[in-house]
Amino acid sequence: MIDVLENKSRSDADFVTRKPLPPERLDALSRDILTRKKELNAIILAHNYQVPEIQDVADFVGDSLGLSQQAAKTNADVIVFCGVHFMAETAKILNPNKIVILPDKDAGCSLEESCPAPKLKALQDTNPNFYTVTYINCSAEVKALSDVICTSGNAVKIVNAAPKDRDLLFVPDENLGAWVMEQTGRPMTLWRGSCYAHVEFTHAGIVRIRQEFPEAPLVAHPECVKAVRMLADEVCSTEKMVDFCKRSPAKAIIIATEAGMIHRLRKECPDKRFIPAPVANCRCNECKFMKMNTLEKLYDCMVNLEPRIELSEEIIRRARLPIERMLEISSKPLENAG
Ligand code: SF4
Repeated sequence: MIDVLENKSRSDADFVTRKPLPPERLDALSRDILTRKKELNAIILAHNYQVPEIQDVADFVGDSLGLSQQAAKTNADVIVFCGVHFMAETAKILNPNKIVILPDKDAGCSLEESCPAPKLKALQDTNPNFYTVTYINCSAEVKALSDVICTSGNAVKIVNAAPKDRDLLFVPDENLGAWVMEQTGRPMTLWRGSCYAHVEFTHAGIVRIRQEFPEAPLVAHPECVKAVRMLADEVCSTEKMVDFCKRSPAKAIIIATEAGMIHRLRKECPDKRFIPAPVANCRCNECKFMKMNTLEKLYDCMVNLEPRIELSEEIIRRARLPIERMLEISSKPLENAG
């Protein structure tokens, strides 16, 4: 493995304190957002980790794969992307002629930060036989250096489809990469990046919550460390978590991913209890970047059409190829994926 950049650790100061909106303000803002959406012929896409009130006004709520697929096929003139910056960039790459806006342009990602394009290029230059499989949580410049993009929902399929005669380089999430190696049996060089929020789940914390709820199965995101993944009944993307929870006969399920997922799960499976896996001394696990978006900022960005994603034609052209390769492989049946 390559030690490229240390991940930032999380402190209490990182957390965004949110006060719930008064119900009448929440209703009025939500109505105004939907009116503005019609005026703009816009589509609102929201990631599963967004705050509940944003999920509730979105046209589509999903994981990175689902959101990319929606972005690729939309007829809207304006894409309002409620997620983090790299996700809105992906929508722009797929829709260069559309306006793509997001509520807060500073909503970043620890994985994106861990992998600057010049450092990736320097590593790629050490081995011309590298085939770079890049998790979608990265900048447009890093996408432009990649052979294929993947999400947590399709990473196994994408790696299985990678050319057999190439040396695989997986960036930037070493935990997702390690899990994909376990699933596929393909050795890969792993970039040493991680999601600062998912690595907060610990083996000890998960053991404790499992003892407290012995009947509840545990579902974990592959961005969690191996010591946590090995205690899970299912390791999967957030979208597949929805399927798992719908199918499971269990009345209560422990969820080891970002806390915003619980809102989606409660809506999709109202008869089940969802228990957020604990981190440190509490039971919440929020991504400070995802939580930078608020309903007020969403409304403001739709009024001002700012902040807006702007990328050079050159970056769009080069970054689009590996994303389209991913979407093509993802849409194929498993046996034909290669
Ligand atoms: S949850 Fe982790 S991977 Fe997702 S945006 Fe936040 S820091 Fe990045």
